[in-house]
Amino acid sequence: MRNFTNSIDAYKEAVNLMPGGVNSPVRAFKSVGMSPIFMERGKGSKIYDIDGNEYIDYVLSWGPLILGHADERVVTKLKEVTENGTSFGAPTLAENKLANLVLERVPSIEMVRMVNSGTEATMSALRLARGYTGRDKILKFEGNYHGHGDSLLIKAGSGVATLGLPDSPGVPEAIAQNTITVPYNDIESVRYAFEQFGDELAAVIIEPVSGNMGVVPPKDDFLQNLRDITEENGTLLIFDEVMTGFRVGYNCAQGHFGVTPDITCLGKVIGGGLPVGAYGGKREIMERIAPAGDIYQAGTLSGNPLAMTAGYETLVAMNQEAYQQINRKVDRLIDGYQQAAKEHNIPLQVNRAGSMVGFFFTDEQVENFESASRSNLDHFASYYRSMIEEGIFLPPSQFEGIFLSTAHSDEDIEKTIEAAKTAFSKLK
Ligand code: PMP
Repeated sequence: MRNFTNSIDAYKEAVNLMPGGVNSPVRAFKSVGMSPIFMERGKGSKIYDIDGNEYIDYVLSWGPLILGHADERVVTKLKEVTENGTSFGAPTLAENKLANLVLERVPSIEMVRMVNSGTEATMSALRLARGYTGRDKILKFEGNYHGHGDSLLIKAGSGVATLGLPDSPGVPEAIAQNTITVPYNDIESVRYAFEQFGDELAAVIIEPVSGNMGVVPPKDDFLQNLRDITEENGTLLIFDEVMTGFRVGYNCAQGHFGVTPDITCLGKVIGGGLPVGAYGGKREIMERIAPAGDIYQAGTLSGNPLAMTAGYETLVAMNQEAYQQINRKVDRLIDGYQQAAKEHNIPLQVNRAGSMVGFFFTDEQVENFESASRSNLDHFASYYRSMIEEGIFLPPSQFEGIFLSTAHSDEDIEKTIEAAKTAFSKLK
């Protein structure tokens, strides 16, 4: 049995210092009935906790670390940049460099604004869409997470295409009522919502591949149909690519599926592990943002030189070959899991987009929040604890995908498959 004494002690201290002992709720490991594991360092595909346990890491800071931990190329540049000062509150060439690269890789982005988190990116994109269209309502999908902004922390009421209810105390009902929620992958519900609210909808916001109910890719034509409907109604289409951006592929999810949004939100990978977000889109829309235009949005640390550098070095390292290399590892991992599940008679569904993978303990296809919710959570919790014992660090929830990096070796993948076999053999 692994020893977690130091983590348990650290958590006892932390719960008196920070709400729930953490600075972001999912880190508390509540859904798998464990105490949080405190990490000390990471290198490549591995992380090490404060009790000295080693793990192969499939969390990768919830997606950003596509090169693995402490990649030499990123670290070397960060050291250099740090020596020259960490923030100026004035423009730097590092911002131009990353912006140029983003524009080159994502053709729908003609101008970009850097911010500090995914939440900031989506909040700002909504303000822009509302300001630009002069409309207040937005449409989002059940089980899609877009950060914790008031307009987006919304649960659907019962039935299709309902006005939203706040998901958390503190979100005013008046704000929630401007958010319409419909099931993911359900184009008929979208049409119905547009029949009712079409000329009031500023934007449709979507994770082009859902990563916050486990991994759920869009059905054939779903994104293109959304593109058509939004265009017909003068509504902006926002792709929240905070998770999928430069993760699903070289040109993000929009390149992968060949659908062009009006506005794209980015985060995670473009910060290479430092705090970053960004939103961008058509020039005509983006030029409404201050100081070019009248829609206000700002940030003391936005475009921070360290974050710009880590993001730039990460994107440069992620050439086409790097994506192919990760994808081959993902193929093998999925194959191994499917074999293991078959051997042990465990119902398992696998969803995948590039190097985002969702394993669901269910025998039905998972295509929306409802079908994801029918997964066997007891199986997940038992599998999770067993994997930790075997030295495999996974996101502690059935409703989160796993991520791979260029640093994951063939040996890591084989070890992980063996660990999954052991975990499956213990499931009843
Ligand atoms: N959008 C998506 C699709 C996300 O997955 C997340 C975070 N997991 C966010 C927005 C919010 O990003 P952040 O946590 O950086 O605020």
